[in-house]
Amino acid sequence: MKTHHDLRELLNRIDHRGYPAYKDTRGSYQFDKYVLSIDHVQGDPFAAPSKVSVHVPGKTAGFPADLFEVSHKRIALQDYLIRKFSKEVESCTFKAKGSGKSGLMSVSRCGQEILERTACEIQTDGKVVVRMEIGFPANGRTINSRELIKILFEFLPGCVKKSLLYASLDSKSVQKNAELAEDQYFIRQELPKLGLAAFVANGSILPRESGVSDRPMRQAVAFQSPKSMEVTLQLPNHGPITGMGVKQGITLVVGGGYHGKSTLLKALELGVYNHISGDGREYVITDDTAMKIRAEDGRSIKQVDISMFINNLPNKKDTRKFCTEDASGSTSQAANVVEAMEAGTKTMLIDEDTSATNFMIRDELMQRVVNRDSEPITPFIDRVQELFAQYGISTILVAGSSGSYFHKADCIIQMDHYLPKDITEFAKKEADAFPIPNEPAPKSHAPSLDRIVKADQGFRKNDRIKMKTQGKDSVLINRDTIDLRYVEQLADTEQLVSLGHLVKYAQLRVFDGKRTLSEAVEELCRVLGKDGLAGVCEGSYVPGGLAMVRKQEIYACLNRYRALRL
Ligand code: ADP
Ligand code: MG
Repeated sequence: MKTHHDLRELLNRIDHRGYPAYKDTRGSYQFDKYVLSIDHVQGDPFAAPSKVSVHVPGKTAGFPADLFEVSHKRIALQDYLIRKFSKEVESCTFKAKGSGKSGLMSVSRCGQEILERTACEIQTDGKVVVRMEIGFPANGRTINSRELIKILFEFLPGCVKKSLLYASLDSKSVQKNAELAEDQYFIRQELPKLGLAAFVANGSILPRESGVSDRPMRQAVAFQSPKSMEVTLQLPNHGPITGMGVKQGITLVVGGGYHGKSTLLKALELGVYNHISGDGREYVITDDTAMKIRAEDGRSIKQVDISMFINNLPNKKDTRKFCTEDASGSTSQAANVVEAMEAGTKTMLIDEDTSATNFMIRDELMQRVVNRDSEPITPFIDRVQELFAQYGISTILVAGSSGSYFHKADCIIQMDHYLPKDITEFAKKEADAFPIPNEPAPKSHAPSLDRIVKADQGFRKNDRIKMKTQGKDSVLINRDTIDLRYVEQLADTEQLVSLGHLVKYAQLRVFDGKRTLSEAVEELCRVLGKDGLAGVCEGSYVPGGLAMVRKQEIYACLNRYRALRL
């Protein structure tokens, strides 16, 4: 292998030459404590920065195997290392100077959630790989390799030494990080055994600082479970922890406006992920198949059987294979429910703030005036019990303005000044005094979703496939924009990058005109399970900047992909 001496010599040689001469630096170089790999060199100083990876052998990195042997601890350690490394890198970025992106040094920026990312990978032998971007410096378009030498021979080695070697980290804090991961994993495993859909520990801080900051709100009212719902778990490290256990079944959250209903639901939505220490939601853990269900006007729907909810449309459209390029509130929410069933969710999370009213309820007066035969919609309220009884799917529903669900709910929580009260008994008594005419809902059959997906001939292995993401809003693939704004459980922009790669991979290798959509998603999940995100990246190197997604979000993405050929 070439060494850092070779790299330095090469860099000295190409100084002052035209920018393309940087291309010669591609390759791997042995440094003192690691191998530096220059994976991709940018075409000019204004283009996307160059991709570089650092490979620290297990022996040098020195992490005890106990910290990365099981995957939940490994992911937590990777996350810890990226955060440390990122801090070091931030203090060096643009310290080397030049035109365009010259001197930039960057690695993934992590939010409050702990996600597996390509930015850092700990292999089975303890080897640590970090993937980052560096803007190779130039003056105008002329190479300034003295500045790159500063980055690669001074800044980067400093960052690696300070943040990727066990010996230079605070071992107590590393240990605490692993213990939290273990405890979170434990709660997640316990939920189904205890018949719970979610757990919210007493003392949790649910609200966030602001609409643009995910950090915990200061001086928030700490969460405190109603006595009747309290569950105590014996965590392996933390010891006993008490909080609210949300039982499987139908849970209704009511309460006056501004009393914290949506805040609780939002915390449950993101409880499918683990949160970092200090977040306030460390011990808010939701069934990790949970899906937020909402209305989403304007989305496309492709051959989805929404006949459970919608039938006899005036335009005679077939609702067993419903298609539209511009869904209404109710049809979009119906499709979201059915697609969630296909994605294997066991818990649906619904907020009336983001629901189509006519999908959720039909009040008595309306039932009298407009009889069932002229109403294509069987509202969710008429199916919510069936979903649990027949499919084992729980619902946690925020409904502050309609009492109709009192009749259906197993558990009713009132949010009162940000604190939950168990009002099941009282509300049930009141509801009994207010019977609603109980017309039986029309019979339904299990939605059939055996949609075969074909490959788009526009995708070929050696073609350049254009891919671009816009924050958490959308992924563009070739000419098609996949709108993901309303897929609220996407927590990080890097997850959208992964979805882009997954769609590309699926088009090239998975969609074959034989597999159904769900078989295709299973195949994608199999590859992710076996090789991680690296498995779905085409090309000769694994890029940083991807974060793991759940099966549920892969479904959500493909279901919103207008170019999907069925
Ligand atoms: P609702 O859905 O009941 O109308 P929200 O959940 O939207 O209410 O909460 C209303 C406001 O109260 C939000 O600005 C939120 O940040 C704040 N809030 C929510 N929970 C708490 C809490 N535990 N402590 C302090 N403020 C909170
Ligand atoms: Mg609300």
